[in-house]
Amino acid sequence: MSLNKKLNTELAARKTEHLYRSRKVLESPQSVEPVINGKKFLSFCSNDYLGLANHPDVVNRFKQAANQYGVGSGSAHLVSGHTKEHHSLEEELADFIGTERALLFSTGYMANLGVVSALCDRHSEIYEDKLNHASLLDAALLSRAKRIRYPHLDINNLEERLSSSESANKYIVSDGVFSMDGDLAPLNKLIALAEKNNATLMIDDAHGVGVLGEKGKGIIEYFGVDTKQVPVLVGTLGKAFGTAGAFVAGSEELIETLIQKSRSYIFTTAMPAAVAAATRESLSIIKEESWRRENLQILIRQFRKGACELGLNLIDSISPIQPVIIGSSKKTVSLSEKLLEKNILISAIRPPTVAEGTSRLRVTFSATHTEKHVEHLLTALRELS
Ligand code: PMP
Repeated sequence: MSLNKKLNTELAARKTEHLYRSRKVLESPQSVEPVINGKKFLSFCSNDYLGLANHPDVVNRFKQAANQYGVGSGSAHLVSGHTKEHHSLEEELADFIGTERALLFSTGYMANLGVVSALCDRHSEIYEDKLNHASLLDAALLSRAKRIRYPHLDINNLEERLSSSESANKYIVSDGVFSMDGDLAPLNKLIALAEKNNATLMIDDAHGVGVLGEKGKGIIEYFGVDTKQVPVLVGTLGKAFGTAGAFVAGSEELIETLIQKSRSYIFTTAMPAAVAAATRESLSIIKEESWRRENLQILIRQFRKGACELGLNLIDSISPIQPVIIGSSKKTVSLSEKLLEKNILISAIRPPTVAEGTSRLRVTFSATHTEKHVEHLLTALRELS
């Protein structure tokens, strides 16, 4: 069979199973009201949790830096792509999180691949929550370590498996805020298990940094733990920061090791300096404007109360990720399409991103939503239920 014929068969099967994915083309900046096909929608599916992706100060800083540094960074950080903007951002991120150092990566996906494959090899064991982000699962595969996946949040299962291991190179790797569920890793318990079993803890707080904790430091601040208790912390910049890229925060030794060994750091072009500059602006907004986090919590409470009254199936989440579990892919897609007819944009998340039978509308909130927006969403959900 020719390649195209084979691909066509596979694509057709996806369509009949309601698993076909397609893109919407935006004609506007990222915001809660994006424009698609000339029409304005009310969006509840972006990860721009703090509404910074099109913040005028962030945009201006980007423009100024593009004037100063141009657009392309020209090469990898270790060659000639590492500018003062990158360097200052790393220092500011380390200071913000409270670690000795931080290191920028071009995306969160690459950060996770780069960290895990630099630290682990085939003599290591990686314990992962079953619902970890795809990049963490792929990272473990790439490292060739032995992979052990424990049921979602099942600390007892993790403990049993850790205590029966004789490996001297154990890593516990978990999302901080689970990307498709919005619930949190039991950080204190993971720390205790890591200490007891001499394992290294790595947390990917892609959806927590900027959002959780009074100062926005993410899951470590939310649980009030010492940064040293999470020796490897990943944060992404394309979500609450509203820009692009990622960082790893940790000790001097960790960061120097990554600079020497992390292949997705070494063998890729540095993010544009203007992105780093814009992110510095985002960081100062994150630090100064706690009202954004407070507003998010107001909206989340309002939504959860209304959705419970409607009898919708929610997950126990205090984060801006508030999925409504539907079940079948077909029904989820149909609901997402009906919402679209009402000018509401919410993506249908289906297998393989989530487990079979747990397809969902992944509702996310931004600090720039209003209570009226949430009311509007609840009314639409009521009409469709
Ligand atoms: N980790 C988690 C938990 C994520 O949800 C994502 C993105 N959805 C990533 C990592 C990857 O980050 P990026 O989009 O910057 O590649």
